Amino acid sequence: KALSRTREVDIPGGWKAGQPVPYAALAKVFALIEGTTKRLEKTSLLTSFLLLVIQRSAPGDTESLLQSVYLCINRLCPDYVGIELGIGESLLLKAIAESTGRSIATIKADLKKEGDLGLVAKNSKNAQKTLFKPKPLTVPFVFQKLKEIASSTGHSSQTKKVSIITKLLAACQGEEAKYIIRSLEGKLRIGNAERTVVVALSHAAVLAEQEKANRRLNTEKLTARLEAAAEIIKSVYSELPSYDLVIPALLRVGIDNLKGECKLTPGVPLKPMLAKPTKAIGEVLDRFEGKKFTCEYKYDGERAQVHKLEDGTINVFSRNSEDMSKKYPDLMDQIPRCLKAAARSFVLDAEAVAVDRKSGQLKPFQELSKRKRKDVKVEDIEVWVCLFGFDLLYLNGESLLHLPFVERRELLREHFQEVRSEFAFAKSSDGETTEEIQAFLEESVKDGCEGLMVKMLESEASHYEPSRRSVNWLKLKKDYLAGVGDSLDLVVVGGYYGKGKRTNVYGAFLLACYDADGEEYQTICKIGTGFSEEALQAHYETLKPLELTKLRGDIKVGGAKPDVWFEPKVVWEVLTADLSLSPIYTAAQGLADERGISLRFPRFIRIRDDKSADDATGPEQIAEMYERQVLAQSKGGKKNKGG
Ligand code: ATP
Repeated sequence: KALSRTREVDIPGGWKAGQPVPYAALAKVFALIEGTTKRLEKTSLLTSFLLLVIQRSAPGDTESLLQSVYLCINRLCPDYVGIELGIGESLLLKAIAESTGRSIATIKADLKKEGDLGLVAKNSKNAQKTLFKPKPLTVPFVFQKLKEIASSTGHSSQTKKVSIITKLLAACQGEEAKYIIRSLEGKLRIGNAERTVVVALSHAAVLAEQEKANRRLNTEKLTARLEAAAEIIKSVYSELPSYDLVIPALLRVGIDNLKGECKLTPGVPLKPMLAKPTKAIGEVLDRFEGKKFTCEYKYDGERAQVHKLEDGTINVFSRNSEDMSKKYPDLMDQIPRCLKAAARSFVLDAEAVAVDRKSGQLKPFQELSKRKRKDVKVEDIEVWVCLFGFDLLYLNGESLLHLPFVERRELLREHFQEVRSEFAFAKSSDGETTEEIQAFLEESVKDGCEGLMVKMLESEASHYEPSRRSVNWLKLKKDYLAGVGDSLDLVVVGGYYGKGKRTNVYGAFLLACYDADGEEYQTICKIGTGFSEEALQAHYETLKPLELTKLRGDIKVGGAKPDVWFEPKVVWEVLTADLSLSPIYTAAQGLADERGISLRFPRFIRIRDDKSADDATGPEQIAEMYERQVLAQSKGGKKNKGG
């Protein structure tokens, strides 16, 4: 099926072996992908394109495939390098105006009508008469320009960005301007989730190998081989989330040898393992029945993944794979003191928590969030941090991901040492009865923690699962016991102007969850109570620059009617008393019920600037929470109310 589509995305005569990939070919594939809602078809279109890229790349050229994949997922480098797209609307408007000779006001009016700046740019270009046909854009050229735009900082960077975008647009033909503008906005919006690209990449690699070897498998065998290949790339990527490393290796050694070639590597942060929420100690015992498990304090700080390379370099990465060495120069000083000599290279999973250095008392996350995020100088630090190590993922040249947790913990304790107020092992108790867990939970709260993390200790179920929210790690927060449930991380997508004293700021906000499969934000509730005047002012200042002229196509609105729309960027942690079915909001529509799910009495907890909009809570989780609530209510004999 994949092969039969090869022709459809071909640009006749325009792309010979050894030549750079034309951007027009990619834009054509994007248009075809956008034109179908069927996931299999999207995958096969992309497979055909990537297969062509592999087959037409000159021997030894790994960049063509690498750059094509990056453009398909709209990224420019691994997450930890921190060069991101997401250019504000006003800069894009300016560039479109400059390159097409139209006024910003007319472009804005078009945008109001169309709702898609990409389309407006394309139409503006196509209406323009040009004397000369511009030189066709190529994938390497566009990639390099996007990178220049995204990485330019400092004083004159705005002007520089506008100038590069203007020139890029001037060279666009056909559909190209639409996708270049959307790339710059930060989202392609063609329903092309990263997992689709990864599957297509693996399929293209298998098909290319087969054609090269002139081998044909029967359909059954081919299907099995394609599925196995997709699993290999997914698993390799979760250990080594860098296409810069995985794609050249794939082309060099092939799918079957990829696992041996690409392993967890200090310096490349892996996506952390996450926990499932549980509401009661009984639920923990049910899930872990008969298995050995341990309870650890759930510290209320910021996740820190510490890497030490053989050459002595130390890196600290955030939950989001951001390099945090500039935020935590104090940690960088502290870390060497907690190592024993035998720890030559390692990856440590830990939580950085605000601490009172004199008393050793832990402080809540709110204290930690007072620290600056960048360019912190040790002499200016007022809020100190203690690192609590809870897992060891790599040690002296070996990945430990596939060892049982009990062995990883042993190695952690052997190779690190506690230093007062600087480093400690996460406090744990291997107790097994409800009473023991209850007592430990209360102790954790008294010591300033959020509750407990309960982890499987032995067997395969206790292996480290990068990027997974796993049932083998359960979180038990003190709040859950009060019946409130887990908090949600939601994206602020809209604002309502305030009333009375608050007319100069937004008085309430529209929140959304994020569906990674459909690449869309689904609205979930309006939140507007409990904000102080100062907080509203601060939110206004953050959100005002993100205002959009027109609602973007990837926000599934339902019946909500905010006064303004925002670029989906800001993530808030929110608690709710209750979830209810809603005719207005779209979150998790079609999962638990035809209707969407909404939050009743949402309460703002904090800004989550360690999470990006794509890390927001997903619809499946919301449906799961809702279903659990219905179950609990029916057990308790209460009726579930729709809303
Ligand atoms: P939240 O932190 O709001 O609960 P989350 O989505 O960031 O949500 P969870 O999976 O819910 O992450 O909880 C795991 C988080 O708890 C980790 O990311 C880590 O920052 C923190 N944590 C604190 N103590 C521990 C511990 N002992 N083991 C694992 N994680 C811990």
